[in-house]
Amino acid sequence: MFLYDMARKVNHYRKMRRKIQAGKYLSPVRRIERTAPLSKKRLVAMTFDDGPSSAFPNPPVRGAEEQLGLTEELLYILNSYKAKGTFDVIGTTENNYPDNQGKVGDFTWSGVRFDHYPEFGKDKLAGVKNQLELAQKIIAEGHEIANHGYRHMIFGPMKVVYGKRTHFNTLKEVIEDLSALHQLVNEQLNYKIRLSRPPHYIDKIPGGHTSYDAYHYMNYNYLAASFDGGGWIPSCGEYAQDVKVMTDPIKQALEKNPDALNGQIIFQKDGFNMSLQTPVTTALESGLKMLSDAGYEVVTASELLALSPFEDIGDVDPVFEAVRKLADSGYVIGYKNNTFQPDRPVTRGELAMMTVAPEILLNEYRSLVDMATEGRGIPAPMFKDVPLNHPYRIAIEKAAAAGWLTRVNAERKFRPDDFVTPIEFAEFLGTRAAGSNVEWNPNEFKGIGVPPEKPDILRRRDIIGALAQINLK
Ligand SMILES: [Zn+2]
Repeated sequence: MFLYDMARKVNHYRKMRRKIQAGKYLSPVRRIERTAPLSKKRLVAMTFDDGPSSAFPNPPVRGAEEQLGLTEELLYILNSYKAKGTFDVIGTTENNYPDNQGKVGDFTWSGVRFDHYPEFGKDKLAGVKNQLELAQKIIAEGHEIANHGYRHMIFGPMKVVYGKRTHFNTLKEVIEDLSALHQLVNEQLNYKIRLSRPPHYIDKIPGGHTSYDAYHYMNYNYLAASFDGGGWIPSCGEYAQDVKVMTDPIKQALEKNPDALNGQIIFQKDGFNMSLQTPVTTALESGLKMLSDAGYEVVTASELLALSPFEDIGDVDPVFEAVRKLADSGYVIGYKNNTFQPDRPVTRGELAMMTVAPEILLNEYRSLVDMATEGRGIPAPMFKDVPLNHPYRIAIEKAAAAGWLTRVNAERKFRPDDFVTPIEFAEFLGTRAAGSNVEWNPNEFKGIGVPPEKPDILRRRDIIGALAQINLK
């Protein structure tokens, strides 16, 4: 197990480091690991990666005549608990050849240069392209479909574990791969995907890009997970023990605290583990039983997000409803690490980002990426202190052009990092909400949350209600 432990530790460290970085800027793409628990409900989501799969479970869980393929078996179990799953599907791995089969029980179990699902040489048994009826059934039964890459090819190199893997080399290639699956599902099944998880969570795309750039273009949020269901772990040689390894963490967490899984996203597999077995079928049944006994409702990841969008703001917070509605309408009000940080001071750059319509930000971003990939020249930035690659540039230029954020000084500087004062926000309301009545009291939340460092600085919670009135009008 040494290699797996090491890989997990490296992964954990990388994740922690990225998470701290990811709290700095508001982002159209948020990495959703979990959401804040609601006060009167226990909600949890489960994601199933690498299907849909018609390969039979191994070992079989039914008599020879009643066998169901793996995805159908998972659907049957989910449905019997009225649970909704999120299926993180692939298109097909049938074009991932030439390749060699690796070693069962090792990271190369499904292939050396590529992944093959459900297994090497049997690619047609999995993926939306060849298993369209399964994808149709997932949707028809009220579950969710997320984009796990058409070919399940890694976005960039990852030397530690997947050193021999073929990977994408440009942002354009990643976008084309994601679009192929998005369009297949949209055209064949009339379904719009909203979430995506990169194969093996590899985020770096050569050329200085990341999965967030690709997801921004696709208008997706990043579907991560906070709790490992363990369905990928190679077998210890005894099926019952493999199942126990998957169910014990849930059992122990709930015994310690019945609320432990509230708002969490559990990672599961819609495929074989590294030993070509499917303990997930047995483990899912007992996992759902424990969750249901503890009063949990298992919902899709998108439902979870619609009910509680961020990690750090629960429904007991007085601004929760304004925050929830804005996030649900696609406004960019949260940070990349899926926090809202209600008590953080608002900057001018952030105010621009939070009020420009999401479709404007999206279309502008898409045309910039298209221009760059086609080698066309990109127009010069409007402000000296807001360079081309500034994360809020598009929003700042749109807001300034609309006259919403004034006080731009004579040297063509916008001052994106300056804090917004109550006077400045009142001026903003005067132009942004001209002609309509917006109720705003800068002192409404005095005494709630962490007090502002200076009385003349507004926190995000102090303006979000007014923004909801304007943006959602
Ligand atoms: Zn995968």
